[in-house]
Amino acid sequence: MHYYLIPRKNPKLLSIIIPCYNEESSLPFLKERLNELIKILPTKVEVIFVNDGSTDQTIFQLVSWSNSDPQIQVISLSRNFGHQLAVTAGMDYAKGDAVVVMDADLQDPPEVILEMLAKYREGYDVVYGQRLARSGESFFKKTTAWAFYRLMKILVHKDLPLDSGDFRLISRRCLDALNGLRENHRFLRGMNAWIGFPQTPVFYKRDPRVAGETKYPLRKMLKLAMNAAVSFSPLPLRFSLGLGIIVALIGFGVGVYALFRAFQHFILEMPIVYNPGWATIVTLICLIGGSILISIGILGEYIARIFEESKGRPLYVVEFVNGFSIGEKPRK
Ligand code: UDP
Ligand code: MG
Repeated sequence: MHYYLIPRKNPKLLSIIIPCYNEESSLPFLKERLNELIKILPTKVEVIFVNDGSTDQTIFQLVSWSNSDPQIQVISLSRNFGHQLAVTAGMDYAKGDAVVVMDADLQDPPEVILEMLAKYREGYDVVYGQRLARSGESFFKKTTAWAFYRLMKILVHKDLPLDSGDFRLISRRCLDALNGLRENHRFLRGMNAWIGFPQTPVFYKRDPRVAGETKYPLRKMLKLAMNAAVSFSPLPLRFSLGLGIIVALIGFGVGVYALFRAFQHFILEMPIVYNPGWATIVTLICLIGGSILISIGILGEYIARIFEESKGRPLYVVEFVNGFSIGEKPRK
């Protein structure tokens, strides 16, 4: 893909968005690395921490950090809304000409932001971190993540980059477009791919978490995968249509076979060799029943989303903010 790139200067202000959910043990490490980085960054910086309903000391640490450093701002959500919504809150409040989204656990090395800025100056609007290697993660996490990205590429968008998470730099014009998409069930990477704009990877080695546990257990990964699949693509609906057709064809085949056997028996007066019957019936009932239920289930997922969206609720609720100028409102 060849983009028409217009070179630009460094952003005047860079917003770094960091969602935090029970990150008390990572924050001291993050603070050190981030302060190092801010010293060498060629731009002004605002760091927006989004406290996503943490139940540990996270919010206390964040507020005291923000009180001692005017570059640090905190948005505290009223409960745990999940990573994607926490990032959205940060994006709504960001004032920078470019924003960077990163994890609190230093799995995304902050120094990569310098390379991202270089690509930004070349004219790219989205610079996503693409992982070269994952160290310190279990075989299970690696394989599920591998499968996840391949499946999502099919379901969500062909431009969805492989092996990259939400660690990315986004330009202001792209962010404004992204902030305009207000769906409740968000899969930011997919939405980003949908928006378009020139995008390019920077490659990096994903480090192990500095401290604490992953906040993305299998349950949340499955939820994200489900969101990505169902919110983006009508393909699952077609899947149930396909399944229905296959089952109907099998039923038709079995019917023809039964007629054939009846013909042999009654017309040709051949003896019935083997005709237990019940196994066929039970198999067919399970097959048909199962596929009907699967199809209803998939339909249900879509209806549930229509229901959620039709309520028109806000995406997240802010309990308080700290470190923003008085009266400052999110841009959205
Ligand atoms: N996170 C969040 N809300 C959640 C789950 C995670 O804000 O409900 C944050 C978390 O604190 C971290 C980032 O999102 O900064 C990514 O989560 P994590 O590192 O646990 O995911 P992983 O890297 O293991 O996929
Ligand atoms: Mg992480």
